[in-house]
Amino acid sequence: MLTIAVTAESADEPRVAVSPDTVKKLTALGATVRIEKGAGARSRFTDDMYKAQGAEIVDTAAAALSGADMLLAVRRPTPEAVAQIKPGGMVIANLAPHDDRPGLEALAAKNAQLYSMEFMPRITRAQSMDVLSSQANLAGYKAVVDAASMFGRAMPMMTTAAGTVPAAKVFIMGVGVAGLQAIATAKRLGGIVTATDVRPATKEQVQSLGGKFIAVEDEEFKQAQTAAGYAKPMSEEYQKKQAALVAEHIKGQDIVITTALIPGRPAPRLISADMVRSMKPGSIIVDLAAERGGNCELTKPGETVDVDGVSIFGPLNYSGRLAFNASSLYARNLLSFIDTMVDKKEKKLAINWDDDIIKGTLVAKDGKIVHPNLTQSAA
Ligand code: NAD
Repeated sequence: MLTIAVTAESADEPRVAVSPDTVKKLTALGATVRIEKGAGARSRFTDDMYKAQGAEIVDTAAAALSGADMLLAVRRPTPEAVAQIKPGGMVIANLAPHDDRPGLEALAAKNAQLYSMEFMPRITRAQSMDVLSSQANLAGYKAVVDAASMFGRAMPMMTTAAGTVPAAKVFIMGVGVAGLQAIATAKRLGGIVTATDVRPATKEQVQSLGGKFIAVEDEEFKQAQTAAGYAKPMSEEYQKKQAALVAEHIKGQDIVITTALIPGRPAPRLISADMVRSMKPGSIIVDLAAERGGNCELTKPGETVDVDGVSIFGPLNYSGRLAFNASSLYARNLLSFIDTMVDKKEKKLAINWDDDIIKGTLVAKDGKIVHPNLTQSAA
């Protein structure tokens, strides 16, 4: 019934859209999964592992795509690739829907149904499909582990016969999914953890993980969370008060992990050049917002820069550095999503166009961009 195509991603994307585990489950749903050879290699999934679970391995991307009902990808595929699937077929990927509008329109023009996983609504039923969470969680962990390895000192306090090694002070800015995992990881490694956010709900979360919460808790702070659970852009006045608090606190920190984001906007600037210069030599900043411009003024996306002995690391596609885990979780997110679109008895596609999960993620259909977030911004 359903033919699913998976092709190798670009050179800078080590992840892949299916795992051997999800191939097995997609096959059980009645699908044929056609995978371009070597597509899983950078996630440590071999062709044989896929084949053992029922996948068809084909030599080229074209052979995987030709006439397929559905293309599963990590990144936005090219219009040329989408043109090869069945007319009206489905594409499910991280489409980066706010980026490169002409490119998105060119893709939509190929008449496929385009679904963007970044738009998955954050409702309880869709938790297992939430790619932002599955990937951010890994990034939060990796940021602390990398910072610990860059840091030329120990993280935990050690009392030895030769004297005491002090615990590292770790400051987490932004307590969403990545920030919470960063707090938990830094605590496990023995750091003294403080954290900040603009959403009041985060205070208790930080404390429950054993961290100390610091923030400007004024009236604006009490209203900073949107109905969807995200942060709002803060007023200039709030930003000033926040900057004064951060400036005072950051001087004494050894490791700072920044994760602050506002959907559809550039990352808020939370660390100025002066704040960096106030830190001790040997301190580390890992800026997880680098892809969206960075939370630190001196971050260079994709690079590590040294400013008077303070290292600022701005990783790109960070979860991809844990490709095995990132692909396994991403593949499960896709599987859960596809599971809602299949009539299990008939073993065929049965899309409920009124489902919030479908309405929330459908970006384009019949050659046109249809998502309200994108049609409004285009007006
Ligand atoms: P995100 O990646 O959009 O942002 C990261 C964090 O940065 C957020 O906590 C945000 O409040 C914070 N931030 C933004 N501006 C800031 C500023 N100026 N200063 C300090 N911090 C700032 O967030 P996310 O990780 O996607 O999580 C957003 C929320 O959604 C969280 O409450 C999370 O627990 C929740 N969530 C819910 C579900 C669900 O119910 N299905 C799934 C995942 C996440």
